[in-house]
Amino acid sequence: MRLRALLLFSLTTLVAAAASPPAADPSPPANPPVKALRITVLSTMLAGDNEKGIGEWGFAALVEVDGHRLLFDTGNRPYTVRENARELGIDLSDITEVVLSHHHSDHTGGLLTLRRAYIGKNPAALSRVHVARGAFWSRGPGEYAGDDNPLIAIRPVFEAGGGVFIEHAEPVQLYPGVWFTGPIPRPRNEQPVPPGWIVRTPDGATVPDTVPDDAALVFDTVKGLVVLTGCGHAGLINTLEYARTVVRPGGSVYAITGGFHQMRITEAGLESTAKDLRAFGVRVIHGAHCTGLETVYRLRSLLDLPRESASVAAVGSRFDLDQGIHPLVIAR
Ligand SMILES: [Zn+2]
Ligand SMILES: [Zn+2]
Repeated sequence: MRLRALLLFSLTTLVAAAASPPAADPSPPANPPVKALRITVLSTMLAGDNEKGIGEWGFAALVEVDGHRLLFDTGNRPYTVRENARELGIDLSDITEVVLSHHHSDHTGGLLTLRRAYIGKNPAALSRVHVARGAFWSRGPGEYAGDDNPLIAIRPVFEAGGGVFIEHAEPVQLYPGVWFTGPIPRPRNEQPVPPGWIVRTPDGATVPDTVPDDAALVFDTVKGLVVLTGCGHAGLINTLEYARTVVRPGGSVYAITGGFHQMRITEAGLESTAKDLRAFGVRVIHGAHCTGLETVYRLRSLLDLPRESASVAAVGSRFDLDQGIHPLVIAR
């Protein structure tokens, strides 16, 4: 009965998302919805606190926004986020909603472990997983039950345990002022497709895999938009453009946090990106995972940001709307 109710709710959400994409708001409210926001990193390359947490190639973050808590991505190795949360004294058992930025294993590898870790304390823990359309498209053949897409093997196990996946083809507002973008348009070719990356689409075509399911969370705050990305395959500037189009046309982007996929960026690319970020009004950069360490500090310099407003993210570090970045000792 519980599963039926969840599925019904999921279907309703899907239909609503498909039938009524959010209209552009020509006159944004003077009082943006999000008042309190904290994003704490639970998986990234660096471990930031003395003997607390381990680093890995992956990403996950706890999002706390106006009394709601959700998990954004689940790290790479099955136990990283579970152990990092435990060592940091963070309890994830009251969280129902999970958002996956895309299907790649370095963002989805901890999902089953985390669900099992908390289901005894709360049967609904981490049971509703939001993904963008394309997250289940086949990328095979590969190492995950014959497919390169790990979510294809994860799905039946997760669903057999009472979990549900909710696919979004359009942007959706999860809470007031908290938006999941769904698939992000790519007017700019910011992230060329690596050789060998192919995807089979539902119409049977096999095409280069641009990771069409790459999606972000956007928060409409009193200081401007805050954008949280997992791996940035859609391109950072494409993502910010779409965030603004969907959530607050003409609005500024106050802060960017997460993985921006800029670790191979050229000097010319850095200067161009900095110019764009300046035009968006970006004041805070908390760069995790695939952003690149040098990239964060070069952007800080190019944007003339103070030291406390731009740093590399570490496990346990956080961005807080009121307090700014809490970088921990490694990136201080
Ligand atoms: Zn990825
Ligand atoms: Zn990644």
